[in-house]
Amino acid sequence: MEKDSLIQKIWDDVLAILKDTIVKTTYDTWIVPLVPHSFEDNCFCVLSGQNLAVQIIQKHHKQISKALSEICKKDVNFKVVYDEDLHKQLEKEKQKTRKEEQKEFIKNLENRINSSRYDGLKQMRSECNLNLKYKFDNFVVGANNKFAHAVAVAVAKDPGKQYNPLFIYGGSGLGKTHLLQAIGHDILFNKPNLKVKYIKAEEFINDLVNSLAKGMDKAGDKNKKMNEFRNKYRNIDVLLVDDVQLIEGKARTEEEMFNTFESLHNSGKQIVFTSDRSPDKFENTPDRLKTRFQMGLLADIQVPDIETRMAILTKLANDNNIRIPSDVIEFLASVYNKNIRELEGAFNTISAYSSINETPITVENVKKIIGYSEKRKNVTVDGIIDIVASFYNVSTEDIKSTNRAAKTAFARQAAIYLAKEMTNESFPYIGDCFNRKHTTIMYSHSKVKSDIKTDRHLAEDIKLLTEQINA
Ligand code: ADP
Ligand code: MG
Repeated sequence: MEKDSLIQKIWDDVLAILKDTIVKTTYDTWIVPLVPHSFEDNCFCVLSGQNLAVQIIQKHHKQISKALSEICKKDVNFKVVYDEDLHKQLEKEKQKTRKEEQKEFIKNLENRINSSRYDGLKQMRSECNLNLKYKFDNFVVGANNKFAHAVAVAVAKDPGKQYNPLFIYGGSGLGKTHLLQAIGHDILFNKPNLKVKYIKAEEFINDLVNSLAKGMDKAGDKNKKMNEFRNKYRNIDVLLVDDVQLIEGKARTEEEMFNTFESLHNSGKQIVFTSDRSPDKFENTPDRLKTRFQMGLLADIQVPDIETRMAILTKLANDNNIRIPSDVIEFLASVYNKNIRELEGAFNTISAYSSINETPITVENVKKIIGYSEKRKNVTVDGIIDIVASFYNVSTEDIKSTNRAAKTAFARQAAIYLAKEMTNESFPYIGDCFNRKHTTIMYSHSKVKSDIKTDRHLAEDIKLLTEQINA
């Protein structure tokens, strides 16, 4: 056997072992792109075109050496070396793939425009309420979301057949909406004759309230409005309900959600829910709805580990054609360790900043851009909400919900103000965290800002809260 092909053969065998022993994201992102280079003096050397891979692979050094020794039936050393040429080649390939993807996309689009299906598709896309940027393609799979991702893919492939309903739950900013919309996206493109609808639970609530209110105007309209409401949610094949925890304790909405569920489920239609907590934590929801939530499949999403967070950032940088040095990626992934939305927010700020000012992206500069100081590093919007909620003795859920009780509304405004003042997040981002429009956030922020000047109690609260948050 030729020397090169022998080296390749050994590496292929090693990969087969590593595939089962190393987490898939790490394996796909960092191990697969390695190129076996030489096997001299009992040292097997691979090249990497990604600087960061060299560091990450150190963590798996033992596993790789062990696999190599197993294949070669003797102790073998292992070394990974960064290679500039390989790096350039990888970049070229990436650009080529990007260009090809773009070409493919345009070709598909043209085909669609030329086909009669296009009108239907265009209409469907607007009716189904999807944000097409959330796809399976750009969802990074790690140990934290592997199961949820796998079942979401299965549901998209065969809606209504198994896992019905699918109930995805997990903390804020961990990819629930992304997965939910990816299901819709996938079905929309691969099964265009199915009717998909994505709704935020809040819209469902508002829609119901509006239908009930309009029905009140004229006695005869009552049934008509409710029928309109019902038809809207029942005349579909796949219903995707985001943040269903928001309906908890709203008896009328819960009843209507139950009816909608029954009607769809009985006719074999797929339903997918997302929620910030599991069904058994819905304390104020009637059992009959809770059991419906639980009767299909429950899948949770956990906080991603640092390697997955780095993989997400690397993907973002690649997709946006921005070069971020490996130490910056590692730095950001270690600072934003609980919430991908915040990680992404920081990435967006940095890429916007670096494209406007021609500042190189270095850890030092990034610290300045994100306003990082040792003290500030753990201040997140969700962290602020938690502290403010317990300060005013209300629940985090209430703050994020439509609850209008005076105490809750007051706590919410204080939390919004502090979120803007104490983090570098944008109004739209903070809006997402509070389940509100960015205009609402701007209004609350400026209201508190001016109230502080005249309201001594409020000023004192804000001072105490700031101290607690910084503590
Ligand atoms: P949630 O609905 O759980 O609060 P989102 O789905 O809105 O969270 O995710 C927040 C942001 O993080 C989105 O922009 C989403 O695209 C991104 N994100 C979350 N998880 C992943 C992942 N595994 N891969 C890529 N992007 C992700
Ligand atoms: Mg969400």
